[in-house]
Amino acid sequence: MGEGKTKIINIFENDSPLSKETRRILKQKLEHCGYAVVREFHPEAELIICVGGDGQLLRTLHQLNFPAIPFVGVNTGHLGFFQELHPNQLDEFIFLYDQGRCTVQQLKTVKATVEIGREAFCQQGLNEIVITGDQLQLIHLNMSIGDSFIEKFSGDGLLICTPAGSTAYNYALRGSIVDPRLDLLQVTPMAPQNTTAYRSFTSSVLLPASLPVTIYPEKRKNAGISVIADSISRHYDSVDQITVELSGQTVQLLRFENYDFWRKVKSKLL
Ligand code: NAP
Ligand code: MN
Repeated sequence: MGEGKTKIINIFENDSPLSKETRRILKQKLEHCGYAVVREFHPEAELIICVGGDGQLLRTLHQLNFPAIPFVGVNTGHLGFFQELHPNQLDEFIFLYDQGRCTVQQLKTVKATVEIGREAFCQQGLNEIVITGDQLQLIHLNMSIGDSFIEKFSGDGLLICTPAGSTAYNYALRGSIVDPRLDLLQVTPMAPQNTTAYRSFTSSVLLPASLPVTIYPEKRKNAGISVIADSISRHYDSVDQITVELSGQTVQLLRFENYDFWRKVKSKLL
């Protein structure tokens, strides 16, 4: 490391007035401590700060294609489950960060590989992958876990989430909250049909990290499919199969030293 090399920090904020003001103050404080703060993504940045809600953190991760640079969030949004800092904790954070006194939370991401003929399309998410039909049509998805065929699911769709995503959409679907120190995938049915015509799992299923889930959508006339990674939706026609698995890529999220997942759950969800 060359002596005197300027340390670079990226800040990305959403366009709320509070976020813009928080960015301005944060930039001033960081520059005062000798950091260079830049707006365009810098691959040599040592830290990426997202000012906004969880959505801002997710959008930045997607825009930058999940870089291996630590992230920290300042919450100016609504919930802020990923966002560790309140705008009134900037001084405290910079002080601790300078001394290397932050915890790094390693969060696994999930990826979907959509195969159509010989083509393959990839999508990645920190929270989840959702597979649904067009315009909330009843969708039929044959599902295998590992090499075993499990069921033909019929309903609104399937949600497959990481532990980090378990507290988001998954929780609203009555899926389980998973401590992110566990290494697993959760498959949660969305409005499963349970009649004499169709039989589907009604509860979530928890899978070890090494087992992929493969989905073979039933091909019907005009039946398009949407694959949604953290609310970013892509539409496909004539899908042969979709493989969903934990990806090797992790997101490094900075937390205060005394961060406790369950205290966060209590303060944000209960
Ligand atoms: P949004 O419209 O703001 O709604 C998502 C809500 O979930 C926000 O309150 C957001 O926090 C919060 N959230 C995001 N990730 C979370 C996590 N890992 N744990 C706990 N809460 C979390 O959309 P967004 O902010 O762009 O977030 C995208 C996420 O929305 C998707 O990944 C999906 O999980 C979720 N979603 C939920 C539903 C539902 O509950 N019915 C439906 C569609 C999508 P902030 O307020 O801090 O942004
Ligand atoms: Mn949001």
